[in-house]
Order: sequence, then structure tokens, then C-alpha cells
Amino acid sequence: MLSNRASKIKPSPTLAIDAKAKAMKAEGVDIVSFGVGEPDFDTPDNIKEAAIKAIRDGFTKYTPVGGIDPLKDAIIEKFRKDNNLNYMRDEIIVSCGAKHSLYNIAQALFGPGDEVLIPSPYWVSYPEQVVLNDAIPVFVKTYETDSFIVKPEAIESHITKKTKALILNSPSNPTGLTYNKKTLERIAEIVLKHNLYVISDEIYEKLLYDGVLHFSIASLGNDIKNKTIVVNGLSKAYAMTGWRIGYAAGPKEIIKAMTNIQSQSTSNPTSIAQKAAIEAITGPQDFINIMFAEFDVRRKFLINELNSIHGISCLTPTGAFYAFPNTSRLYSKSIDNRKISSSSDLALYLLERANVALVHGEAFGDDNYIRLSYAIPIDEIKKGVERIREAIGKLK
Ligand SMILES: *Cc1c(COP(=O)(O)O)cnc(C)c1O
Repeated sequence: MLSNRASKIKPSPTLAIDAKAKAMKAEGVDIVSFGVGEPDFDTPDNIKEAAIKAIRDGFTKYTPVGGIDPLKDAIIEKFRKDNNLNYMRDEIIVSCGAKHSLYNIAQALFGPGDEVLIPSPYWVSYPEQVVLNDAIPVFVKTYETDSFIVKPEAIESHITKKTKALILNSPSNPTGLTYNKKTLERIAEIVLKHNLYVISDEIYEKLLYDGVLHFSIASLGNDIKNKTIVVNGLSKAYAMTGWRIGYAAGPKEIIKAMTNIQSQSTSNPTSIAQKAAIEAITGPQDFINIMFAEFDVRRKFLINELNSIHGISCLTPTGAFYAFPNTSRLYSKSIDNRKISSSSDLALYLLERANVALVHGEAFGDDNYIRLSYAIPIDEIKKGVERIREAIGKLK
């Protein structure tokens, strides 16, 4: 018999769609995949060289659980420079990806009956990690008309005596939208008034468009800093998804608890990847700009094209590499007696009939949308949107 916990948990839908698309590809089907959230760029050579050197130097043994000091120092310097935040080594943990840092936070903070506020649409792992710790995800709906930014009053109206924390994600996956400083200030006031924690997932902070700036809620003052755990990682900014390095910064009691939990599960993140991470954070940063410039071209192209398809409308994202178009106007349509009445019907139809993989919005908590990642070559994007246009044109 499986545990109660195991029977409650859902597999990651984004990884599942990617697996299905890859399986179809392996069978020789020419799939365009807007499905998975990872850069198509290769990890920069200077980072790879640092890892190769680490192997040659024999840096292949256990390290301290929460990461080696030179990497913690590089992260501390990054926070100081990029976010105007000052941390000590015992306020930093390095984990096997940002997802692992988030999981450690959930284990350290959440217990039976605790309520955790999650603005919706949300990144798929937040509610599942809450549920894995017998706590309760409480969704705070956001609206396209507000650019999917949660209204501070809406947060407040969902707070009960059991509310423990709020999870923020800016720039956002799946919406690609970003919180401004003023909204964060109002959210910080509410959080402090009700003595909540904030978990701030800032993994897309380096991918911002149209001159938008990133603010960490933790940087808005010492009080809010003491209630915030900032999560970040290398996967997205340095095209290092497979290396599994993420990190968190926050109050030292929480970081200590997370480190203890990590010491009984994975132990340290890979020694070699830690050396690579130091090079990524402290080495030349021009790679990000090159990748970013390309994402910006793709973003503009994709959003334009999506908005030119009858029945689809899409806000212009200001961060990350996702488009989150509204497809609800298609849900009364059908083809060959096949009714399209939800985001998953639409995603399945597009996968099977148009060879295009993307993720149904329902996976992120809003059935009126679908998510497309534009971290794929522009030629693929062109081919993919034409297929979508044609397949949607056939719906009656
Ligand atoms: C990709 C992603 C992560 C996880 O990144 P890893 O460091 O690869 O674990 C966390 N949060 C969001 C919003 C993401 O999109």
C-alpha cells in the first residue's frame, strides 16, 4: 500500500507533456514543442570548463551539505549587487535546483492544517509541495485585466488564523508578467501585519523586457527581509537546467532547518556543479544578454502571431520566456464530432492533429489559457504558430 501522501500527489504536468512530445519525436513525428520551460541555448563554455577542471582536480567528493563557502560567497555578492540585500553564509543554502530549495522550505515551514496562499495561475509545483507536507494550498485568483498581478486586498481577504505563508513568483511562470515595487510594498505591509512568511521565487529575475526592473520583496526593509525566503537558481539564466543548482536566502533558523532536512535527503548538491555555479555567477555575464536579446525577438514575434489568430488573445509578457494566451473563446467549438471544451482538449487536439506540444492552462490553475514557452528557435516558433493557426481555423 502506498502512503496517503503518495496517493495525493500529481506528477509534474509540464514534464509529462514534454515526455509525450519527446516520445512522439522519437517515433519520427515532427513535433514543435512549446511545452517545456528550459532555454534551448547550450550552457556557456566557461561554465563547462570550470566543471571539467573540477573533475580533473579531483573535486569529486562530498561537500558541506548546504554548499561550499566560495559558492555561498558568490551568491552573497550576487544578492548585494543585484538586489541590494545583505546576507551572511549561515543565511544561504545551495540545493539541487531551485525546486529542491522550495521543497526544503515547504518541509521546514509547513505542517498539517497550515494554509499557504498561492496566487493563481501558479507554477505547478507550489501546490503539490504544500500538499506533500499535509498543508493546504489556498489559491488567490488573479485576472488578465490586472495583468495577472494579485490584488493586495485579495491576499488579505484570504488570510485566516491558519495562514502561514504566501508564495510569490515574479517574473511569473506561467504568465510571464512581473510585480512592480509599489504592489510589493503593499503586499509586504499585509504580510507583516499578519505575521506571515513570504517565499519569493525569483528564478527569472534576469529575463526582463521593455525596461522593466526586478525588485525582491525582501529588499523593501529589514522587517520584511526577516520574514522572506528568497529562492533563485542557475537553470534559467545560465541555461543550466541539467546541472541542478538552486539556492535560497533567509532567516538563519529557517536555513538551518532546511540544511538539516537536506542533510537527511540529498546531502550536498553535486560538487562539480557547484564549481560550475561559481564560474556562472562570478564569470562574464554577456551570455545572458545574448540569450535575452534572442528571447526578446521571439517574444515579440510570437505575441504578434498569437494575437493574429482568430479566437486567441494574449497579453505581452514582460519577463521569463512564456506566453499565456486566452483561448476560452474556442471552447464552444468542435471538429469531426470532437468537442473542444477545455484547455486540455485544446492541447491534446493540437498535439495529435497539429503536432504542436504546449501546456493546458488548467495545469497552472486556469482553464481559460494555454502556456507556450518561446525558449525554442525562431524557425520552430514560426512553424508551430502556422500549425496552430491552421488547426484552429478548422474548428467550427
Ligand atoms: C524552472 C522553475 C523552477 C525550478 O528551477 P530548477 O532550479 O531547475 O529547479 C522554479 N520556479 C519556477 C517558477 C520555474 O519556472
